[in-house]
Amino acid sequence: MIMALKRQSVKQMEHIRVLEDKDKLLAKQVQVLEKEVVATQSAVKACKEKLEDMSLRQNEVTDSLTRAETRFNDVQRLLAERTANLEKESHHSRRLQEECQTLRRKLDRSTKEQADDQLRSERDEYKALLKCSSCSTRFKSHVITRCMHVFCNECLQARLETRQRKCPSCAEPFGANDVRKIFL
Ligand SMILES: [Zn+2]
Ligand SMILES: [Zn+2]
Repeated sequence: MIMALKRQSVKQMEHIRVLEDKDKLLAKQVQVLEKEVVATQSAVKACKEKLEDMSLRQNEVTDSLTRAETRFNDVQRLLAERTANLEKESHHSRRLQEECQTLRRKLDRSTKEQADDQLRSERDEYKALLKCSSCSTRFKSHVITRCMHVFCNECLQARLETRQRKCPSCAEPFGANDVRKIFL
């Protein structure tokens, strides 16, 4: 009976040792697992931080993109306005050029007309100077030597024939001998 109890006790001791060994092994495994958990947690934390950082950067990039788009739209609008202004100015300038040309043509015409008018009036003036002041139709051709006034021969002969023998200009009496032909 005692022997049986001893054997049982030894067996139980062995069993306890085995259990203790298993326990140690399990404790080690638990340690390893705990370390793994810590490592995993730290990796997850790093991952989260990275994710947050990326999300922040994405927001920054989105903001930059929005700003760039706004600026691009502004520049496009400005460009359109400037193009429209340039076209307007170019149109205005073309019209001014045309007006300028028209005015220049008018001025040229008017200058030419003025010159023509002046020439005509000078010609009329000289013609009047050459015309007999008594009849205003024929040219001067004879002088009364007593007063040196000049008329056409017809007018002087008419006065001699009708005995109105006085100079038409100054009423100086003259005779047939006082009339001389002149040569221009
Ligand atoms: Zn005359
Ligand atoms: Zn006279």
